[in-house]
Amino acid sequence: DRPGCSRRTSTDHLVGARDPGYFITFEGGDGSGKSTQFSLARDYLTRRGWDVIASREPGGCPIAEKIRDFVLDADVEGMTAECEALLYAAARAQHVREVIRPAVAAGKLMLCDRFLDSSIAFQAYGRELTEPAVRQINALAVDKLSPDLTLLYLLDAKTARERVLRGGAPDRIEREGDAFVGRVRRGYEALAQREPDRFVLIDAARSIEEIFPDTARALSGLIDRGS
Ligand code: ADP
Repeated sequence: DRPGCSRRTSTDHLVGARDPGYFITFEGGDGSGKSTQFSLARDYLTRRGWDVIASREPGGCPIAEKIRDFVLDADVEGMTAECEALLYAAARAQHVREVIRPAVAAGKLMLCDRFLDSSIAFQAYGRELTEPAVRQINALAVDKLSPDLTLLYLLDAKTARERVLRGGAPDRIEREGDAFVGRVRRGYEALAQREPDRFVLIDAARSIEEIFPDTARALSGLIDRGS
């Protein structure tokens, strides 16, 4: 008997208040280790029999991956914060309609490495656009879709930088300095404070093996409750 979203009671569907699947996002600054936890989580949930769809932003489908290549290209110079924010939102508009919504509607466990919170943290706080402006740009893109759960990996700027540099050539965003990284972190903390039920904060300044039980516990807290 495979565990899965379909094991929810049928009344959930009669009420019609929510989709049958789950939408779970992984957030944090560059180098926080969220992509590493994301991969482990995907494998862990798949092993447990869940029908997992794993994706990422920017990207996640061919059109949005093309936008990703451009927006993260370290050779691109002079891109304005407004242009950057609109490109992320454009990629997201495609990804939501082509991948995320269909997956959640079909009862899948949809995992996404970054989503709207990244745009608020990076473009509103990091780039210092206003939050209302970034939310407005993204309103059409997300069309009221919000994650059921968001895992937020928090790490100090110095350790994050060391990890990014160890991981290879930094992309256009990863080349930003500590002031930018600090603003991004404050942005994430503000978002988490406002929606404590959606966010689970995870101390990322530990080994991969020490962090993963927290990742697994946060996921179980959502999906075992609903199945
Ligand atoms: P992010 O997606 O947050 O940018 P990644 O998961 O890609 O971070 O990790 C960035 C780099 O740090 C990679 O080289 C990865 O192997 C390494 N890394 C990830 N988690 C840890 C950890 N807990 N401790 C030390 N290094 C880590």
